[in-house]
Formats: sequence, C-alpha cells, structure tokens
Amino acid sequence: MNDILPRDIAYWQYLEKAVAAVLAGYGYSEIRLPIVEQTALFERSIGEVTDIVEKEMYTFADRNGDSLTLRPEGTAGCVRAAIQQGLLGSPQKLWYTGPMFRHERPQKGRQRQFHQVGVEALGIATPDMDAELILVCARLWRQLGLEDAVTLELNSIGSSAARRAFRESLVEYLRAREDALDEDSQRRLHSNPLRILDSKNAQTQALLDGAPSLEEFLDEEAREDFATLCSLLDAAGVAYRINRRLVRGLDYYNKTVFEWVTDALGAQGTVCAGGRYDGLVAQLGGRDTPAVGFAMGLERLVLLLQQFQPDLAPPGADVYVVALGDAAQRQALVSTEALRTRRAGLRIHAHSGGGSFKSQMKKADKSGAALALVWGDDEAASDTVTVKPLRGQGEQVTLALSELDTALDGLL
Ligand code: ATP
Ligand code: MG
Repeated sequence: MNDILPRDIAYWQYLEKAVAAVLAGYGYSEIRLPIVEQTALFERSIGEVTDIVEKEMYTFADRNGDSLTLRPEGTAGCVRAAIQQGLLGSPQKLWYTGPMFRHERPQKGRQRQFHQVGVEALGIATPDMDAELILVCARLWRQLGLEDAVTLELNSIGSSAARRAFRESLVEYLRAREDALDEDSQRRLHSNPLRILDSKNAQTQALLDGAPSLEEFLDEEAREDFATLCSLLDAAGVAYRINRRLVRGLDYYNKTVFEWVTDALGAQGTVCAGGRYDGLVAQLGGRDTPAVGFAMGLERLVLLLQQFQPDLAPPGADVYVVALGDAAQRQALVSTEALRTRRAGLRIHAHSGGGSFKSQMKKADKSGAALALVWGDDEAASDTVTVKPLRGQGEQVTLALSELDTALDGLL
C-alpha cells in the first residue's frame, strides 16, 4: 500500500480534474460509496472461483462477527447502492473514484491499495451505450495527451449459455492436452477454464491456436450487438483491435468486453477495462436491469502521464515571501494576507521560521517560484516592497506597496 507523495500529486490532481470534466461533459453523476461491504456481496457478484475472491480479498470479522471486506472493485457496491437506494426506476449514468484493495504481489503498476475511477451505466441494453462509454475513454486519453500511448481491444463473450457451451468444448480440447498446459492453467482447467485464454504463457497460447473459438458459439443477439458497436466506433473514428481471447477475470460480464492497453508499462499493461454485465443487478436482488461499465487504474495512468507528460509537475508556488527583522515580518504578514485576498489563485509561499537573508533566498530559489517579495527594515519603514525575479527575467525593484499589483501583472 503506497503513499502518494507531494512530488507526484500534480499528476494525480491533473488526472482527477480531467476525469471529472470529461464525465460531466457526458452528463454522468458522481456517486460516493463505502469502502467496506459485506463479504457475501463480492462472493455473489465477482464469483467464487475468481482470483479476487479466492485469494485477493481483505476480509475480516467485525465486532458483531459479520464478515466484511475492503472493496476489491467498485461495481458490486455501486449496484448494491442503486438497488438499495431505489435508483433503478430510470436509467443511471454513474461514476465514482476511490481506493480498492487486493492482496496481490506488489510490483510496478500493481499495488495492494490502488485507485480506480469506475463508470457504470445502468438500465440501457443497447450497444450505443457501450459505444458511449468507449468514447468517454477515448476523449479522456486525448484530454490527457495519452491517445498515442493506449490502444483499444474489444471482444464479445456472448450470453452465459453461449459461454457454457464454449467452456465445455474448450475444456474437452484442453483436457486432451493437459500435460502441455502451464501450472496455473492446469488449475484453471478445473475452476475457471475461460481464464486460460488470457494466460501469459507462450506454450499455452500456442496450444490455444488450435482450440475452438468463442466466436463460433456466440448467439445471434450478441453477434448483432457487437457488429453495431463496431460500426458506431468506426463512425466515430475510434480505432480498435478485436481480440477473440479477451475474456476478463470477473464472472459477471456478458456480450461486450474491452480493455485499453499500453506497452509502455511492462507487464501491467491494462489501464482501463470493462464490459457489459446484464445479469448482475437481478443476481444481486434488483429488478432485471441491463448494465455496462468500466474501471480505470489511476496508478497506471499516473505512470503513463509521468512518461508522456514529464513537464507537467508545476512548481509548488508562484511567489516566495522573504522577511528579515520583527517589523519587516509584521509588515510582510499583513501585506501577504492582503495580497492573497486580492489575488485568489496566486500561490504564495511565505517563509516561516526566520533565518538569514541568504538562507531565505536559497529556499526561495528552491521553491520554484517565479519571484520573491522581500521585506527588510527599509521596506517596513517606508511601506515599500522589493520584488526580485528568481528565474532570470529582469532586475529587482523596490516599489510602493500600492504599485505591487501592477508589477505582478507584468511579471507573472
Ligand atoms: P490485471 O489483469 O492487471 O490484474 P484486472 O483484470 O484484475 O487487472 P480489473 O479488476 O478489471 O483489473 O480492474 C480495472 C483496472 O484497475 C485494471 O485494468 C488496472 O488498470 C487497475 N488495477 C487492477 N488491479 C490493480 C492493482 N492491484 N494495482 C493497480 N491497479 C490495478
Ligand atoms: Mg487482477
């Protein structure tokens, strides 16, 4: 579980702001959800034999002996809330953000506490909804300057009946070749065979080249919806690659699944993933409600931003205030407060803790500020201030306090 440090915070704030703005532009509403839910909610929605439920959840008994879990993802809680709060009378376009928890092996782009933005559209069955969610992502990547860093992978996994038939045929094919499978896939053959399709093992992938394809098992409705989705994306100019082996790790998906992937982050290449989950709301006790959504991993997007937008992190201050002597300190405090009132948004770092003029100026230089405002005995006695550019533009000048705003306009 990582600390997010001040040196990285500009990237986080930039990302969070862009996400909120893009989603507002599509009319989506933010929803804020608890971090802890009943364990049974995740077992019933994500599925008992998935990696998350089998081995990644932070589960504990509370003081009443109820089994609770730190949320490993947001969809289950969002659907739970929509049912419980009676939101499903009309379609809902919702989004949320916050920490998620999974006990995984930590590595670059993979933490045990990580952050997602999740977007869920509840109540719309048609593929225009799937297309809109993908357009939201595409616009966000453009907004962030990441459009060349990520690509879209798309598949349809059909109805649960289609998947059941495909699963049987896949298991039959792989059982005859069980010895050639990697260890993980051998285990999955008995628990969650579809996950074998996204095995990273090269020998397993080669074996799959001869396996039955999910596409052959798709029902007519899934085929038609997928064709419509593809044609909408074509019309909107969104590029995609159809990946027939994309299945996603959670049980609740059907029809459309998609991932935005990058090869700039090594093994942790998926920055955003989602799909349709038409059965989940009813499965969790709500009225039959089709749904589609996605979640993006903010740590991975921050890593991408740092790589593709290295100059983003702005200095922490615009102006650094230096004061030497008691009278000067008082005058600096009063003038700086007045300046903050007049110029909301200007980032003023006032030196604290005293020290020589030289050591204060060193800190001013290090702060990244464009200029220093300096008060000494002379300035305090004459209602003036010295403005000292720190980034090499121009000479320092001492001016009347009443002229400060005009001088700042010229310098900032
Ligand atoms: P992966 O295959 O990388 O484990 P996943 O399929 O488990 O991902 P989802 O449950 O679909 O991931 O979550 C959506 C997104 O959240 C992922 O694409 C990824 O960007 C991010 N994510 C998932 N798990 C982690 C983690 N442990 N640390 C950081 N980001 C994560
Ligand atoms: Mg995972």
